[in-house]
Amino acid sequence: MAEAKLKEFMRMVIKKNPSEAEFHQAVEETARSIFPFLQKNPKYLKAKILERIIEPERVIMFRVPWLNDKGEVCLNRGYRIQMNSAIGPYKGGLRFHPTVNLGILKFLAFEQVFKNSLTTLPMGGAKGGSDFDPKGKSDNEVMKFCQSFMTELSKYIGPDTDVPAGDIGVGGREIGYLFGQYKRLKDEFTGVLTGKGLNWGGSLIRPEATGYGCVYFVQEMLKSKGQSISGKVCVISGSGNVAQYTTQKLIQLGAKVVTLSDSNGCVYDEHGIDEKKLDFVLELKNVRRGRIREYAQKFNCKYLENKRPWGATCDIAFPSATQNEISKEDAKVLVKNGCIAVGEGANMPTTPEGIKVFQDAKILFAPGKAANAGGVATSGLEMSQNSLRLSWSREEADERLHNIMIAIHQQCAKYGRKGKDIDYVTGANIGGFVKVADAMLDQGLV
Ligand code: NDP
Repeated sequence: MAEAKLKEFMRMVIKKNPSEAEFHQAVEETARSIFPFLQKNPKYLKAKILERIIEPERVIMFRVPWLNDKGEVCLNRGYRIQMNSAIGPYKGGLRFHPTVNLGILKFLAFEQVFKNSLTTLPMGGAKGGSDFDPKGKSDNEVMKFCQSFMTELSKYIGPDTDVPAGDIGVGGREIGYLFGQYKRLKDEFTGVLTGKGLNWGGSLIRPEATGYGCVYFVQEMLKSKGQSISGKVCVISGSGNVAQYTTQKLIQLGAKVVTLSDSNGCVYDEHGIDEKKLDFVLELKNVRRGRIREYAQKFNCKYLENKRPWGATCDIAFPSATQNEISKEDAKVLVKNGCIAVGEGANMPTTPEGIKVFQDAKILFAPGKAANAGGVATSGLEMSQNSLRLSWSREEADERLHNIMIAIHQQCAKYGRKGKDIDYVTGANIGGFVKVADAMLDQGLV
């Protein structure tokens, strides 16, 4: 019965939002958890909260023209999906990647609503970005693009309405150019973006927060089974912001990280990545903007062209690159090789079939909504510091982040407990939903 209702609901979603496969996937995964909860709580059904929560409050699409270094006219498309503002101003990152389209940003904005709710902070959900590819562009070209992008976006954002941050392809450099242009246009210095530089309003720990937070969450999952991170062999995909700081925290906690990757391939270092090797990765990726294969050349280890790291034997996997990077087959290989836990640093990196493999095998599976919420949580802390016009110490920001990750774990346990185990997917979905749904009920037909 519930399955038939879900199918009917998904038919409506697909009909209304054609050609948005990732959005359909994200909605179905969430609706599957929430449907049984709605049957027990008909007030949400009557108010059609689920139908309303999947509909963005506003979608903004715009033209972004800019000049490249040869003086040629280039054109990209910009987006901002303002999904839900029931519990606070819109908040969510900007992604610059050639694959960006409306469906991908809607899936990310939808997930962001639940994630932000789980952080315990007052933040609504949004996402934005462009099909612009920063790879291979000069700093000057990236600046020109960011200035044109912000010229339009600035009309729709503000410190109390919508506060964007980074995501794939948007790091400290891009946030700087975007912030500079906003300040010029509005003639005001406000916390309109997060992920800012430390000497112009940024928060300590923000660059580290998503990776550190994901490790803190996995630590809580392991604790619930009487285990710890120390000594565990870990595989990580990606080599960007999330992958870098997941690696750093794992090294600090005594784990052994054996892989990193980028869109061209993956490195396998059987001796483990230590602090020194990680410094090389940070310089390679954040300054020289090179390829991960250089790591294999430098440290004389295996490089697997066009491969992902899921074939390596490990205790814990941290997918930290992009959506749908762990297929059903990958998940089976991980389980077969003894993987006991998965912490999703990326958003929706595991396909629905892959999640089923993990759940059937009863391994600890932390969905991105919960596991990678540390990034936006620390963005929330950056907003608080900007409003208070002060900055917290590294230790204070890190402690707040750690406590938030513990609180998210507790919410997942509250709504996802099944006997001795915790179903983190159900826990995160219902935990994130309730707060937003109740606020929507309180606020009438919004
Ligand atoms: P970065 O741009 O810093 O790094 C992304 C990494 O993933 C790069 O190594 C990149 O390789 C790789 N990658 C990107 N797209 C693909 C692809 N299609 N196939 C294979 N590899 C790919 O991004 P972040 O580290 O910030 O983000 C990574 C993930 O974490 C995303 O899913 C993002 O949504 C999520 N996330 C990020 C947060 C943050 O605070 N930054 C917060 C919460 C979630 P290459 O350089 O070759 O493209």
